[in-house]
Amino acid sequence: MNDLSKLYINGQWEDWTGDTLDVHEAATGEVMAKVPAAGRDEMERAIAAAHAAFDSWSESTLEQRTKVLEQLLDGLKARADEIAETVSREVGMPLKLAGQIQAGMPILTTQSYLKLLPEFAFSERVGNSEVQYAPVGVVGCITPWNYPLHQVMLKIVPAIAAGCTVVLKPSEIAPGTAFILADILDQTDLPKGVFNMVCGLGQTAGDTLIKHPQVNMVSFTGSTRTGHLIAHAAADDFKRYALEMGGKSASVILPDADLKAAVKGTVNNCLLNSGQTCTALTRMLVPASQHDEACELAAEAVAKMTPGNPLEETTRLGPLASAQQRDKVFDYIRLGQEEGATLVAGGAGAPDGLEQGYFAKATVFGNVKPDSRLAQEEIFGPVLCVIPYADEAEAIRIANGTAYGLSGAVWSGDADKAKKIAGKLRTGQVFVNGGAFNPQAPFGGFGHSGVGREFGKWGLEEFLEVRSLQL
Ligand code: NAD
Repeated sequence: MNDLSKLYINGQWEDWTGDTLDVHEAATGEVMAKVPAAGRDEMERAIAAAHAAFDSWSESTLEQRTKVLEQLLDGLKARADEIAETVSREVGMPLKLAGQIQAGMPILTTQSYLKLLPEFAFSERVGNSEVQYAPVGVVGCITPWNYPLHQVMLKIVPAIAAGCTVVLKPSEIAPGTAFILADILDQTDLPKGVFNMVCGLGQTAGDTLIKHPQVNMVSFTGSTRTGHLIAHAAADDFKRYALEMGGKSASVILPDADLKAAVKGTVNNCLLNSGQTCTALTRMLVPASQHDEACELAAEAVAKMTPGNPLEETTRLGPLASAQQRDKVFDYIRLGQEEGATLVAGGAGAPDGLEQGYFAKATVFGNVKPDSRLAQEEIFGPVLCVIPYADEAEAIRIANGTAYGLSGAVWSGDADKAKKIAGKLRTGQVFVNGGAFNPQAPFGGFGHSGVGREFGKWGLEEFLEVRSLQL
């Protein structure tokens, strides 16, 4: 891996000689890189650079913004293999899948904004008024480890396209691709100071970013706990904020569904990226009469998820990103047993022969009580809860019965009925009978899952303020 001991401030790579943070390879636990543990001073310099660059970039033309995004797209394509391997090693996602998702989604996001930008109306006429959509200002972007470049791209591409300037604080657990991104942007025509990247801990570098008076908006993806801190800090200064947070999403399987296909679809979704996915369908709701059969099918499906080093071709289930995350998953599995759920597959501990690194077994619990902690709290690991329900009304009540509302699924032999039930779920997106993920559609959460939306025009509007001229 490249030398990551640098900061990217005001269009310059700066050497860093202070404290560093270790980045671990998920499959081995070994240190694969060291990144700066930058603090308040460095963050303040990055914010000052973004502030100074704003006036000019906010008045950049559509052609200038488009050109930079095209150059960014070329760089992402050229370095796709490096991006996939970096995330695979840091986070644990199998390499082939990382190529499709971790390297593929940033390309798709850039392409989608290149298409949207010329179509988007930055002003419109309403009676005797001209309504203008103006860039919000300096944006602080704070991101987590699980889809480390994808989550950054959903912020910086629309922010730059909107005419904002940016300071990025990437995850300290999986920061490698933020350095690749800074390197790519450094080669483009983006003026100095429009994009800055400072790696450091949340409590210091992140804290400075969310509280600084020259930061006009914070765009955050991460845990609900940190999102809460950000909302409080933003309130002090009336900063704008967008929050993409946790989830505990339900897959509602109706009695007339193709049970085998629905269970397979749910298990595959739940175990994607070893369960380190905010939208993971971690609660599978099944008619009580089909509970045991659904558990058997789920156990068969997880048995096919061969665990191993994510760089090996046969691997379908990689490790978790950190020792802390693995231990948290083990604790939840033990808790599930204490709470009286039935362990159907897996259990606490690493799969045989994979004791090194941060591996956890794909685990299925049956007869999970809807109000138990196992069914209510985000685990962020390969753990599926099967919850029996008596009737449709109870299924909807259970599906909506957590503080979260990020994603969901409904499965039925009757497409109209599936859509009707999907419309009752208090959640930002619902997959109806296995409908495909759509990067043009808005993405975000109800309740404790989020505030605001990413992707498409909704993602661009997050970074725009509205001004109306009375003419
Ligand atoms: P986290 O909240 O611990 O960290 C996210 C980022 O916030 C990191 O960069 C971290 O350094 C920073 N941070 C931590 N404390 C901070 C503070 N006091 N001030 C400012 N910044 C601070 O989250 P994580 O553990 O890295 O990621 C996992 C979580 O992210 C899960 O809850 C998951 O559901 C969520 N997530 C949500 C989405 C979504 O789109 N809704 C997508 C991916 C992940």
